[in-house]
Amino acid sequence: MEEQGQLEELDKKYVWHPFTQMKDWEREKTVIIASGDGSYIEDVEGKRYLDGVSSLWVNIHGHRKKEINDAIKSQLDRISHCTMLGLSNVPATLLAERLVGVIERSLGSVGSPPGSPSFGQKQGLGQTMGPALTKVFYSDNGSTAVEVALKMAFQYWLHKGVTGRNCFLSLNNGYHGDTIGAVSVGGVDMFHDVFGPLLFKTYKAPSPYCYRCDVVNSSDDCNFACLRKMEDILAAHHDEIAAVIVEPLVQAAGGMIVAPPGYLRGVRDLCTNYNVLLIADEVATGFGRTGLMFACEHESVVPDMLCLSKGITGGYLPLAVTVTTDEVYNTFLGDFRELKTFFHGHSYTGNPLACAAALACLDIFENEKTLQYLAPKIEILEEGLRNISTFPHVGDARNRGFMAGVELVRDKASKEPYPWAERMGWRVANHAKGKGVFVRPLGNVVVIMPPLVIGEADLRLMLDVIGEAIKKVSA
Ligand SMILES: *Cc1c(COP(=O)(O)O)cnc(C)c1O
Repeated sequence: MEEQGQLEELDKKYVWHPFTQMKDWEREKTVIIASGDGSYIEDVEGKRYLDGVSSLWVNIHGHRKKEINDAIKSQLDRISHCTMLGLSNVPATLLAERLVGVIERSLGSVGSPPGSPSFGQKQGLGQTMGPALTKVFYSDNGSTAVEVALKMAFQYWLHKGVTGRNCFLSLNNGYHGDTIGAVSVGGVDMFHDVFGPLLFKTYKAPSPYCYRCDVVNSSDDCNFACLRKMEDILAAHHDEIAAVIVEPLVQAAGGMIVAPPGYLRGVRDLCTNYNVLLIADEVATGFGRTGLMFACEHESVVPDMLCLSKGITGGYLPLAVTVTTDEVYNTFLGDFRELKTFFHGHSYTGNPLACAAALACLDIFENEKTLQYLAPKIEILEEGLRNISTFPHVGDARNRGFMAGVELVRDKASKEPYPWAERMGWRVANHAKGKGVFVRPLGNVVVIMPPLVIGEADLRLMLDVIGEAIKKVSA
């Protein structure tokens, strides 16, 4: 039954693929994946591909990982799903505690001594020691984790008796998902412009995109001019702004744009100074992608809300969380009649199978010292990127940890981009696919984001194939 010809016909007849021009799809050969193993995926014809984008940034410990499979199977023999509305379940409860602990170890506690690596912005408020982010709200994908954060932030101010906080501040080139609220705070014009008439009002600050800075002419000594622009907006409009939302360190879908060191810390300080909430969307950066458990850890930043999804289950099942502080949570407590309840929830919220997978995923991080073994692989990746950056049509090859993007340009000296309709990124990816490496580009940016567990030899192979593909296509 699992035959290429027949399945391809069915796919083309019945399936509408995401972010895909289906007219092209209908003309091209469809690769149909039948199985996976470690960093490889295999199609129905038996051809193997290195999974160079971790099945769209979700896979951490590899495909068909025994420990995660076992955890899901064992949960399956108990119960697959029950509602969180009016009930709780075993894995969702255990996972919430576990996440709060993991986040505390990464981002620090309330009341840590100033200057210590775990010193958060909450220091000095007289609280006793304890985690800064304490309350876990479940949903089932990154976009809804963001929707939850936006609605929670908005309602938080109402509960504080503050009205008029009807807007958000977000960044150009930001991406927070595809639901309408997430698109409203998004800043990737190609995806988002068409929906303009449907969106709510959002202030946009410049993207920390040093390679193509639109704030200053020369980035030497820019003194964070992009942050000053953000400050101008906050100074003028802070009393309309419920929260600032950013992707910490890497604007991923916007083109793997890596913020300069200190930028995130600067955003945190501005939010504190102007008294607006900070939402950290770590849907892409979370769970080790940047080399540490969470991107915020690199700059000792504690957000008011942390959105996590993608890697949370190791890439096995859909699950997301929005984690927030007691300060936010407590404002939602009140008599039933006060209507302070957070009226939000999804059918599959806190799904036990997904939570069991997430617990197994966190166990593996500890048992296999995933982040410790990642460090030398990040060096190999960076060495490969340095080599690729010398190619005549590579404008910028950038990374933070295991998130990398190679920006192709028509003219290296002037940074003139290839016209987007030439689909250079797609052509490179297509070439690499023929050589057994699957990657998916973002416009002119070739994305390199393998599972954290990838072996060193496979990583080098992947870099070679991508390098060759870039040379061929841009020759
Ligand atoms: C992927 C992504 C989302 C959306 O997650 P989905 O699960 O695709 O809805 C949100 N924010 C960031 C930073 C992402 O990378």
